[in-house]
This record gives sequence, structure tokens and C-alpha cells, in this order.
Amino acid sequence: MTDGSKALILFSGGQDSATCLAWALDKYSYVETVGFNYEQRHAVEMDCRKVVLESVSQVFPHWGAKLGQDHIVDLSALGAISETSLTRDVEIIMDEEGLPSTFVPGRNLIFLNFAAAVAYRRGITTLIGGMCEADFSGYPDCRKETLDAQMRAISLGMDKSYRLETPLMHLSKAGAWKLAEKLGGQKLIDIIVEDSHTCYRGARGKRFDWGYGCGACPACELRSKGWAEFVA
Ligand code: ZN
Repeated sequence: MTDGSKALILFSGGQDSATCLAWALDKYSYVETVGFNYEQRHAVEMDCRKVVLESVSQVFPHWGAKLGQDHIVDLSALGAISETSLTRDVEIIMDEEGLPSTFVPGRNLIFLNFAAAVAYRRGITTLIGGMCEADFSGYPDCRKETLDAQMRAISLGMDKSYRLETPLMHLSKAGAWKLAEKLGGQKLIDIIVEDSHTCYRGARGKRFDWGYGCGACPACELRSKGWAEFVA
């Protein structure tokens, strides 16, 4: 039996997925979470995601009551085959195609397949992800067209009608902060600033207005730029 009031969220512990988590808990009656370990340089996000889940449950008990199981999927093979700045200790640069070297080829496609497989055995057909094509690093697997094609393949391949909700798809980073404020006010903003992790280098030594990070990698740049627009 599948239940349309249940959803599984791809939850990395970053700003986007923390905002999606609140969005999902506001909209659905039951929400499970899945995170992927792919030997990412910013593996600290795997610890941060637990903190975000705990903080959200504590500060918003009516949301906490809807939170179900948290799944961790080991995708270390993805890290092993990906020669990228996200999975190796090499400098973050732009390549000839204009993509940052943090692009892990096909990452979202792989994540969605595994998320759908987890959802299948949990009787869930709605997936939620923080993919965004408005204000991102140009990753082709974040595009709506890519995701629509992938969801069609998953629905055919599993013979079930899967849906992917992407509430941030057309929002800027400032728009994502605004959505978080609308959903959970300053308390949610505080949790996202303090506990979510975005920095590709995995840096949490320095605290900026917008949270922890190195302040210089593409992920920190996007997050700080969005924050500046949000508070302006
Ligand atoms: Zn950074």
C-alpha cells in the first residue's frame, strides 16, 4: 500500500534540504529522510543533518511528531569513481565546459534511484528534493528536464507512479531563506544558520552571519550572497 500523505525527503543537511524538510513537514502528515554517504569532502554534513533533525523536532514538536525513520545509504562507490573537488582534496576550479570541478557526474540521478528504492519498500511514492535551477552552480542534473525524465524512468522501472517535489526549483537562494522564514519564522532561520552545512570544503571553523563555512568556495559564495539579499 502506498500513501500520498507520506513523503521521503533527500536530506543532506544543507540549507536547501533543511528548508525542504520544513516544507515537507508543513505539507505532509508523515516524512522520512534519506542521506547519502559518498565520501564527500564535506562529510561533516552527515553529522550536521542529525543535528538539524534533532533541532527541528525539539523546536517544532508538531513537526517532530511527523518525522519517521532516517535512512543512510552508503554510496562510497560514487566517491571512488568520481575525480572531483567534492570527493578529492583538490582545488575547486571551473572546467572547460563552465562547470565547477565540484560537479559529481550524475549524482542526483543516482541519489534519486536509491531514494526511490528506499521509498519502494517503505510504501512511499513521493520524493522531495532541494534541486534548484534558478540560482545554482550550473549542474545539469539539477535541471527540471533532467529530473522529469529520471522520474519517468523510475516510475516505469518500478511500475509505480513516483512523484518528485522540488519546492526550491525556481527560487533564488534569498527566496529559499524567505520560504524558511514563512514556514518556521526566526526559529527556523536560526536552526538553518547554526546547524545546516553548505561549505564544499567542510569548513565549520568560522561563523558568518549566514552560518559556518570557508566563505570562499562556490557553495559558501551562493549561501552568503543569498543571505545578503535576504536581510537587505
Ligand atoms: Zn566554503
